[in-house]
Amino acid sequence: MTSHDVVRVIVAVYLIGALAVFFRRVADRAAFIRAGKPEDRTDQLARRIGIFFTEVLGQTKVRRRLTAGWAHALIFWGFLVFALSTVNLLWRLGVGGEGFLHGALGWFPPTVDVFAGLILLGIVVLAIRRFVIRPEYLTYHSNESAVVLTIIGVIALTHLGERYLAGDVSAYFGYGHLVVAFSFLAYVPTSKHFHILGAPVNAVLQQLGDHQKMDAMDLEAELDFEAGESYGWNKLRDFAWTDRLNILTCIECGRCQEACPAHATGKLLSPRDFIIDLKYHAKGVTPPGNQAAVARAAFAGSGESLEGVALEDQPLVDHVVASQTLWECTSCMACVNACPVDIDHLSILLNLRRYQVLDVGEIEPEYQRVFTNMERSGDPWGYGEHRKAETLAKLGAGEAGGPSPRVALPGEEFDVLFWVGCWGLYDDRSVETTRATLRVLDHYGVDYRILGDTEVCCGENYRRMGNELQFQMNAQTNMELFGSVAFGTLMVTNPHCHQVFGKDYKDFVPEDAQGVLPFQVRSVEEVVWDLVRERGLPGKADLGQVAYHDSCFYGRYNDLFAPQRELVKAGGAELVELGRNKDNGFCCGAGGGNFWREESEPRVSWNRAAEVMESGAPTLAVSCPFCMAMLEDGLKAQEGFEANPVKVRHVVELVADAIPAPAGVGAGPTQAADVPGEDTGADVADDPRGDGATEAGGNTWEA
Ligand code: SF4
Ligand code: SF4
Repeated sequence: MTSHDVVRVIVAVYLIGALAVFFRRVADRAAFIRAGKPEDRTDQLARRIGIFFTEVLGQTKVRRRLTAGWAHALIFWGFLVFALSTVNLLWRLGVGGEGFLHGALGWFPPTVDVFAGLILLGIVVLAIRRFVIRPEYLTYHSNESAVVLTIIGVIALTHLGERYLAGDVSAYFGYGHLVVAFSFLAYVPTSKHFHILGAPVNAVLQQLGDHQKMDAMDLEAELDFEAGESYGWNKLRDFAWTDRLNILTCIECGRCQEACPAHATGKLLSPRDFIIDLKYHAKGVTPPGNQAAVARAAFAGSGESLEGVALEDQPLVDHVVASQTLWECTSCMACVNACPVDIDHLSILLNLRRYQVLDVGEIEPEYQRVFTNMERSGDPWGYGEHRKAETLAKLGAGEAGGPSPRVALPGEEFDVLFWVGCWGLYDDRSVETTRATLRVLDHYGVDYRILGDTEVCCGENYRRMGNELQFQMNAQTNMELFGSVAFGTLMVTNPHCHQVFGKDYKDFVPEDAQGVLPFQVRSVEEVVWDLVRERGLPGKADLGQVAYHDSCFYGRYNDLFAPQRELVKAGGAELVELGRNKDNGFCCGAGGGNFWREESEPRVSWNRAAEVMESGAPTLAVSCPFCMAMLEDGLKAQEGFEANPVKVRHVVELVADAIPAPAGVGAGPTQAADVPGEDTGADVADDPRGDGATEAGGNTWEA
C-alpha cells in the first residue's frame, strides 16, 4: 500500500464520518421543524417555482444590497459550481481517471477557477465590511462569520492549488479540499449557515397572497390551561413549523434591525435580536441579545423555576423576549421586507402580544383605556355615538336615502360603499379628508353611499394590540352591516381599514362563501386614480413641490405605491421622493397601537419628520390619518419648522383642490389647505386619546 493509498483511505473514512454527522444534524433540525403546528404552504405552485428561480437561484433579495448583496450572491453561485466540481474531484481521487468534467464539459473546470477567484473577492469584501467597517447592525456576539469566511476561503484556495500545482502536491491539495468541504458540510446544520439549507425552503414556502393577514382565533375553544394550552403564543410548542424554520434560517445579517424604526429611535426592540435570541433559545443556548438579558432579569425577579420544564414548554415572554419590546413594535413590516431569507418576525411577535393580552391580561394602561373607550362609547377616543351624528350633520348627510352624502337604505344596491371610518367621523382634521373625498365622488357622479352612524371601528388596531375579542366583535358587526346592502367596492381612506377589510375579514364571511369577500376593498386613491385617468381633472391647483410619505399598510402590506404618487402629480404637484420611500419607506410610528401610547424620546415621527424637512418640500402628502396626526406633530418638533412650515395633507385633498366646490359648500381648496403650516385640527386633535392628556403616541397637540 503506497502512502497515497493510506491517505486516500483516511480521507475516505473522514468523509463518510462527516457525511454521517451532516445527516444526523439535518435530521435533528428537521425533527425540530416538524414538531411545529401545521401550516399549509402548498398554494400558488407556479409562483413558488418562480420564486425558486428568482429569489433562490437569482439571489434577487440578497442582491438588493449592492456591495454585500453581490458578494453574498457570488459566494452562493460559487458554491453551486463548487458542488459539482467537488463531486468530480471525489471521483478522480477516489476512483481515478479524469472524472466526468472533461470532453464536452471541459469548459467547466476553468469556470470553477473563475468562481474561486470571485469567491475570494467576495470574502475579502465581506470581511472588510464585517470586521473593519463594522456597521452597527453587524456587531453581533458570534464569531461564526469569521470561521465560515475562513473555511470558504480555504475551499477556494485548495481548489486552485489542486488545479494549478503538479504531482503529489496537487493531490494533497485535492484531499485537503475534500476534507475542508465535507467538514463544512457537517458544520452547516448547527451553525448560522443552516440558511444554506433553510433559506431556499423558507423562500419557496413563504406566505404568499394575503400578506400579514392575521388568523382568526377560536375564542370559544375549551382550552386546557393546566396542560399549557393558551390563546396566544408563549412557548416554542405554540409555533407553527414555518416559524420554527424561520428562526433557524436567520443569517444574522442585521438588515431587519437597520430597517426597524423602533431600533432606529433607541428602543430596546431589535427584530434581529428578537429572532436570534429565539434561535439560541431553541438550540438550548443562552440568548445573547440585549433584550434577552432584560427578559432574563425579569424572569429571575419573578421567582419562577424552570426545573423539569422542557425547552419546548419554557416561557418566552419575559424569559427570552422582553415584554417591553412587544409593545415597541409599530407593526410596520420593515423587518419582514428587509430580510433576505424571508423571515416573518411580525407574525411571531403579534402572537406573543396576543398571549400577553388574552392569557396573562397584562395590558399597557394606555391600551386598556382605548379598549375601555371602545367598549363603552364605540370609539377609541371615548367620545360617544353622538359625535358621529354631529360630523354627519356637518357634512350635510341627512336621513338614510337623503341627498349627498347619501346614507344607504337597508337592501339598497349601489356601486361604492364609502367607509368613512373612525378618523373620518371623529377627528376634525380627518373630517376634512372625508369632505374632500365626498367632493371628488360627487364631481365624478360616483354611485356611492355611506353607512352613516351605524359604522363601528374596523378593529385593526385592537387586533394588532392583541385584543382579539374586541376585533372579532367589531368584525362580525361590520360584516352584518355590509350584508344589509349590496355593493361592489368598499372604499376606504385609511390603510389600516384596507388591510383588515381586504384580508382579515375573509375569516368572517359565511361558510359557503369559502373565504371570498362579496366585494372588493380599494383605497380612495385607487378609485379616484381610475376616475382621473379616464376622465381627467377639471383643473390643476398650484401645489408646488409635494413630498409623499408611504403608509406601511398601503405600501409594504399591500403593494400600493403608484396610485398615490400619480394623484399627487395629477393634482398639479411636483412629486418629491423622500430618501426612504416605497417598500423602504419609514414608519410614522403610529402602527400596532403605538398611536395610543406614550412613546419614549426620540420619537419615530421625529426621525421621519426630519427627513421630510430635509426634502425642502413645503407640503407633505399622506394617505393615512395616523400618518397625518403623527407627522403633523413630528414636524412641529423640528428645528426650523416655524420658518419653513410643512403642511400635511391627505392625497385626496390635493385632488379635491383641483375640483370646484359645488355652490353653497365653499369654492376653492378644502379647508385643510387654507392656512399653510397651521393645525386645522380642533377638539379631537386637542385630546386625541380622550383622556384629558394632550398627547397621543407622544404627540403634542396644539390648539
Ligand atoms: S414591524 Fe417594524 S417596528 Fe416591528 S420589529 Fe419589524 S421593523 Fe421593527
Ligand atoms: S431576521 Fe433576516 S434580516 Fe434579520 S438578521 Fe436574520 S436574516 Fe438578517
